[in-house]
Amino acid sequence: MKVRFWGTRGSIATPGPGTNHFGGNTSCVELTTARGDLLIFDCGTGVVRLAAELMAQGSKAINANILLGHTHWDHIQGFPFFSPAFVKGNSAAIYGPEGSRGSLHDVLAGQMEFTYFPVELNQLPAAIAYHELTEGIHTIGGARVATQFLNHPAMTVGYRVEADGVAIVYLVDHEPFSDALWRAGAELGRIDSILHEGDRRHAKFMADADLVIHDAQYTPEEYASKKTWGHSAYDYVVQIAAAAGVRRIALTHHDPGHDDHFVANIERKARTLALQRGTGLDVFCAYEGCELVLEPRSTLKPFVMAAPFQASVAQRRFQILVVDDQPDMLTMIVRALEEDQYMVSKATSGLEALRMIEEHMPDLVVLDYKMAGMDGLAVMKSLRAKPETQLLPVLMLTAMTDEPSTRAGFEAGVTDYVTKPFSIPQLTARVRACLARTQLL
Ligand SMILES: [Zn+2]
Ligand SMILES: [Zn+2]
Repeated sequence: MKVRFWGTRGSIATPGPGTNHFGGNTSCVELTTARGDLLIFDCGTGVVRLAAELMAQGSKAINANILLGHTHWDHIQGFPFFSPAFVKGNSAAIYGPEGSRGSLHDVLAGQMEFTYFPVELNQLPAAIAYHELTEGIHTIGGARVATQFLNHPAMTVGYRVEADGVAIVYLVDHEPFSDALWRAGAELGRIDSILHEGDRRHAKFMADADLVIHDAQYTPEEYASKKTWGHSAYDYVVQIAAAAGVRRIALTHHDPGHDDHFVANIERKARTLALQRGTGLDVFCAYEGCELVLEPRSTLKPFVMAAPFQASVAQRRFQILVVDDQPDMLTMIVRALEEDQYMVSKATSGLEALRMIEEHMPDLVVLDYKMAGMDGLAVMKSLRAKPETQLLPVLMLTAMTDEPSTRAGFEAGVTDYVTKPFSIPQLTARVRACLARTQLL
């Protein structure tokens, strides 16, 4: 299997002398299997040169599988320039999560509206098919491909591709679920010792991979002021990959503000950290033109998803109960969820929430941790004590990122956390992931 990096930059293309080595094009990675299947991760500006090279290869029809992690602009902006799509007889199968406000097709068509681009999506002569994904195991080309949600303000999936006896995992864009990676007192460097269920799942998804390509836009110092933007710092990536027994990790989605010198420095620090972990993890910062050939190994075990989820979250109208004693926050959340077509009810105290749940069971509860009187944790305990509400999904809103409260929440059975301050798209993406994950479909 062959992997080539065509775009390694995050957020916006940054060509110029300062980025000559690591590259200025936005996200795009090519993967070719031994039998010739072409998989393209993301369609940032890097796809333009890949497209030119495919076209230069001759008269054979080009059949591309395009795997979009999400539809933020830096991951799709190269698609209108994907020249094989302008040739009849070629085909493109486009995979990605359903957009938050429209289908995958609609989102791609949006950036090609006449206001922005001279050719409309539906005018492209190649045969284009759209496949919306949630979590699960799929067959793409001849490869086995697992998808799992990432933690990003837009609906985002990570891809684990297994073919030719190797596993490659593409995890762009993603941010840690929790500030603290490890449980206090637990042995460092083991998946079991990871504090947050989301980070633990993330580690399992990349476990034992030959190559992981991971968002590492920031340094830990920068990350402190960029929380909720949906990107990782290299120290999280190295530690989680080491715990997961990953063989090689490519740090990518380099910040547009980082020149070659800066990225090289990140690479040095990340390597030092990997050495300290003592796992033999090979770390490098992805650069444009980097080409890797991965040799098959007999020890590859197919990834097994603990609970695979099917179907579309958008096809059902879910009922969500929002519980918060602060009127402004309550109104903001309710409005955002209603805009996303959910049926939303609200409660201003823990007791009122319990009474409402007894009368009418929602599909999901969005619960504030800190409330006057009965707090979120007490509500949780009361829900989990009753058989009817034992499995009711609860998304907890908390400003407290310290370990004891996170652990207390999980011990009480919280499904997931959103840490304040959060953005509305981040909350709604988390709500969707929570609903998809809890198999209400
Ligand atoms: Zn991005
Ligand atoms: Zn993004």
